[in-house]
Amino acid sequence: MAPISDTANVLARHDLPGILAAINAEVRERFGEGRVADYIPMLGSVPVDRFGMALVALDGQVHCVGDAREPFSVQSVSKVHSLTLALEVAGAELWDRVGREPSGVPFNSLVQLEFEGGVPRNPLINSGALVVADVILSHYQRPREALLEFMRARSGNASVGVDREVFASEKQTGYRNTALVNFIRSFGNIHNDIDAVLDFYYAQCSLEMDCLDLARSVLFLADEGHCPVSGVGVTRPDRAKRINAVMLTCGTYDAAGDFAFHVGLPAKSGVGGGIVAVVPKVMSLCVWSPGLDTKGNSLLGGYALHRFTEMTGLSIF
Ligand code: GLN
Repeated sequence: MAPISDTANVLARHDLPGILAAINAEVRERFGEGRVADYIPMLGSVPVDRFGMALVALDGQVHCVGDAREPFSVQSVSKVHSLTLALEVAGAELWDRVGREPSGVPFNSLVQLEFEGGVPRNPLINSGALVVADVILSHYQRPREALLEFMRARSGNASVGVDREVFASEKQTGYRNTALVNFIRSFGNIHNDIDAVLDFYYAQCSLEMDCLDLARSVLFLADEGHCPVSGVGVTRPDRAKRINAVMLTCGTYDAAGDFAFHVGLPAKSGVGGGIVAVVPKVMSLCVWSPGLDTKGNSLLGGYALHRFTEMTGLSIF
């Protein structure tokens, strides 16, 4: 496998449009596998036979295939962006309130919190993202606007916004998230109004973006914290490194080990069927296919990333 320092060579050696087209054809043969996330009613109505993939390289190449320009519900992919925002304002103190170990249990589980004093295992599961949301509410005057602005600037798409129907659907049926935030609050690890925390969290989950938007939105993680899309430094290199580390170990929940085994890239999934992945110093990617596996990760999206790293040899390992 080629070392990642050979970026330019690796990119030059591969026919990236051809590889994406081949993956697209393979994935479409498997349409029907996986189940859409119907525990959020509005997501239950998304057709399962969709697949998109976008790739944005640091040398300026952009490639899209399939349904890469069809907007979908970002869901937990946004946990990467909110973590970045929270780290900017709270710095290392964030890690006093949320850990950085894989959970090994489902993304919306309550069990560990009881034993671990209300400190979520990591920021990329629901409990951790609720604490991150709380931190953002404490530090930003207009938290939702800050997040929206961040997403728009990182993706280069000024029309990114919240899908009101998905937001309402999540709010109406968010029994587990309500339980989680109250439970964490009972340990003193939530400082703001419960409803305000939940509203912010549902707003971030309900953002609608497409594969290209999302691939662009995490390109700063491939470039040591510098965002080539907006041309600004988003976060310090050491923070970008750590966000990548947490994505690798925790970004796909209790499948993170399996994901590292098959794909070998920092990644973050969402129950909308999106997964972003980062090839440090080379590119960012986003795949989308709404059918999920039993762990809540896009089944065909994971397969597409697996095939991509197999075909290109681009992996951190
Ligand atoms: N909004 C979803 C929830 O809170 C996000 C979960 C996910 O994408 N894994 O359940």
